[in-house]
Amino acid sequence: MPFNTVLTRKLGIRVPVVQGGMQWVGYAELASAVSNAGGLGLLTALTQPTPEDLRKEIRRCRTMTKYPFGVNLTLLPSLVPPDYAAYAQVIIDEGIKIVETAGNNPGPVIQQLKKAGIIILHKCTTIRHAKSAVKLGVDFLSIDGFECAGHVGEHDITNFILLSRARQELGVPFIASGGFADGQGLAAALALGAEGINMGTRFMSTVEAPIHHNIKQAIVDAQETDTALVMRRWTNTTRLFKNKVTEEALKVERESKTDDFSVMAPHVSGKRGREVFINGDKDFGVWTAGQVIGLIHDIPTCAVLLERIEKEALEAVSRTRSLYNDVPASKL
Ligand code: NAD
Repeated sequence: MPFNTVLTRKLGIRVPVVQGGMQWVGYAELASAVSNAGGLGLLTALTQPTPEDLRKEIRRCRTMTKYPFGVNLTLLPSLVPPDYAAYAQVIIDEGIKIVETAGNNPGPVIQQLKKAGIIILHKCTTIRHAKSAVKLGVDFLSIDGFECAGHVGEHDITNFILLSRARQELGVPFIASGGFADGQGLAAALALGAEGINMGTRFMSTVEAPIHHNIKQAIVDAQETDTALVMRRWTNTTRLFKNKVTEEALKVERESKTDDFSVMAPHVSGKRGREVFINGDKDFGVWTAGQVIGLIHDIPTCAVLLERIEKEALEAVSRTRSLYNDVPASKL
């Protein structure tokens, strides 16, 4: 086992890679495949229409892997506000040991989960929010740079700054999220002080991701310039794959005279985005993708991907070492 980080030890995983929560992607097929490959797979709670459906999905996932997996619970503005406490209760009742939380006002849910002894990995896009989460007693932070897919926050700080700020300030173990697709990225994150990485978009383009092949191919064909930021006007800036619907949404955002979210809702609705993954038409609705889209060139299985990442990370470390002259063994 080449990796020995706080994350691998505490979660009981072999490779320090977490598959981040992804709406309409984080089903049992993907979470179990990532866990079977040695990383930490996560079910995305709100992808299940009700807490009872989440219970069934957790049970289904258990039949697909004997390794640990977790659940993502995201607390962000929603067209139909979910009953977060009820989702959290199912997570507790089903004996899940690791939860990735994200979003606004996470205090009550984190408290509820912590009381049940669950390990909390909280996602943040600023050091200020990370410090508030530390006060809530989270076990790990997932530091999410501006490169990331989906909810990028409102401060636009990229990971080169954010990760070093996390190392300087937090005093709680953290993983790096946003912009990661390969072992070189993992080695860089470890060098900056992280205990592992989170990947979302990279896992969408794997054999096991339960989405239409056309979307995986669209990711392979895309470049790092093919994302767009929408909803800044509503303080909910979100990085999406650039397509016809994001262009429409951006036009509405620029030109509409009202701040009422109802002008935006038909364009960014998750229902429409979900259809994209089912029918394979990349222009049918909005869907999230990170700038890392430019680094993804194939559709491997999760096992092949994580083995490759492990190998690349070791090669990157050995390359870096070879760049230092005559370092005495005592200094390594
Ligand atoms: P949805 O159809 O409820 O909403 C569509 C988009 O509009 C989302 O980005 C949402 O945050 C935003 N939105 C809704 N009401 C808003 C308001 N009043 N002001 C500003 N923005 C508003 O979204 P969905 O696709 O059904 O997803 C349900 C929830 O899961 C949303 O909160 C969404 O942001 C979140 N989500 C989670 C993940 C994850 O990684 N777990 C990924 C993407 C989205």
